Amino acid sequence: MSREDYEIVIGLEVHSELSTKTKIFCSCPTEFGGEPNTHCCPVCMAMPGTLPVLNEKVVEYAIKAGLATNCEIASVSKNDRKNYFYPDLPKAYQISQYDMPLCEHGYVEIEVDGEKKKIGLTRIHIEEDAGKLNHDDYGRGSLVDLNRAGVPLIEIVSEPDLRSSEEVDLYLKKLKSILEYIEVSDCKMQEGSLRADVNVSVRKKGQKEFGTRTEMKNMNSFKSIVRAIDYEAERQIEVLEDGGKVDQETLRWDDVSGKTFPMRDKEDAQDYRYFPDPDLVAIKISEEMKENIRKSLPEMPESRKERYINEYKLPEYDSNILISSKYFSDLFEGATKICNNPKSVSNWIMTDITKELNEKELEPSDIPFTAEELGKLVVLIDKGTISSSIAKKVLDEMFKEPRDPQKIIEEKGWVQISDEGAIKEIVLKIIEANPQSVADFKAGKDKAVGFLVGQAMKETKGKANPQMLNKMFIEELKK
Ligand code: ADP
Ligand code: ZN
Ligand code: MG
Repeated sequence: MSREDYEIVIGLEVHSELSTKTKIFCSCPTEFGGEPNTHCCPVCMAMPGTLPVLNEKVVEYAIKAGLATNCEIASVSKNDRKNYFYPDLPKAYQISQYDMPLCEHGYVEIEVDGEKKKIGLTRIHIEEDAGKLNHDDYGRGSLVDLNRAGVPLIEIVSEPDLRSSEEVDLYLKKLKSILEYIEVSDCKMQEGSLRADVNVSVRKKGQKEFGTRTEMKNMNSFKSIVRAIDYEAERQIEVLEDGGKVDQETLRWDDVSGKTFPMRDKEDAQDYRYFPDPDLVAIKISEEMKENIRKSLPEMPESRKERYINEYKLPEYDSNILISSKYFSDLFEGATKICNNPKSVSNWIMTDITKELNEKELEPSDIPFTAEELGKLVVLIDKGTISSSIAKKVLDEMFKEPRDPQKIIEEKGWVQISDEGAIKEIVLKIIEANPQSVADFKAGKDKAVGFLVGQAMKETKGKANPQMLNKMFIEELKK
């Protein structure tokens, strides 16, 4: 048998940090970073005798996520203790949800090779994040930072409906974009705001039962997830082909070697001994609360796309790229309001801005300038104040040190030369310096004009208005 005779089965447990102002059971800030142990209090440091109070916003955000992913919302839910020991968890239990999660039975739709496919969501529940261990560089020990302890998370558990690493990539991108649109998480992968436990198994095509799965925990890069799945599926197929069997175990993905390794302790052997947290009351969700949250949902990507095609007359291709991220979509709409030139804004986002992000390995959420500044840049081009080649330099500057593009061109002296007298002066100078091109033009080679315009642009360091140059060269040469 070969690789083609097997089917890959994947299920994901995605953890997303919620962007509430305060933590889930106390009023400490959730803000990322800060000096170690400065965003904590007796509650999130697990001092004995303290009592947790559930942050209502956390429930609201989780329900928002549930509604945006077609889940059924519970009318009664509760918090449970998940017991385990780890130095970053001083309480020795994590408050999570066990048998009564807030949201269940949802789905996220992805498009695979032009066909729509629904990926089932088993559940979405709320829980608290743990602290962080900082390992000392000199091997003397580890330091505990509890700033992250008690930051609210939702865990989104998918059914084992995914069949390839490509589908996983599409699913994660879709999920991330939904969470961004409803503004419940900033989804910053580098800051660990979105991370996934990846469960992988393989089975012979046609086989009914799932194969034994392995789990790779806490992955926070889409690229690594795709590579890890491909490697792990291949490894499992090889084990089976050699007559062996796959062990159900937790693996660690190593990005450098591109391989998975068993983690020393087998987490599946753990017994979390879940039980309802006696310090917290049941969570009751009224129909009214559900309805209010439903009404607060913003316009979702599909509807924005329709609007871009119908109202702004953008191609479907552009619209798909723009809605792929809320940050792109908001940037587009904000900039278009200023300059009233949707196609040009779309082009800037799809080409130069995307290129810059890729080069710097940044995400759309990292774009440092505002929609208003991008809109003003397009206005400057449309008014002829700057050429599009200068505009690229202005954009570079906006990435480096965001500020009003008008200010940038003034500071740098990049204003386009559109004064007729000045243009004429340049044209005459270039004609005089290039008799061969003039002769070529007179002999019928129209291309010579392009060369002369190029020379004039070089002479003016890209500042001359190219349309005016072109027109004036032809006028002068025809004289
Ligand atoms: P846990 O990891 O907490 O023990 P579950 O049994 O609920 O939890 O499964 C967790 C994830 O593993 C789910 O996303 C589910 O879709 C996925 N999963 C379960 N069985 C398989 C399998 N045979 N192959 C791939 N993924 C699986
Ligand atoms: Zn606290
Ligand atoms: Mg798991």
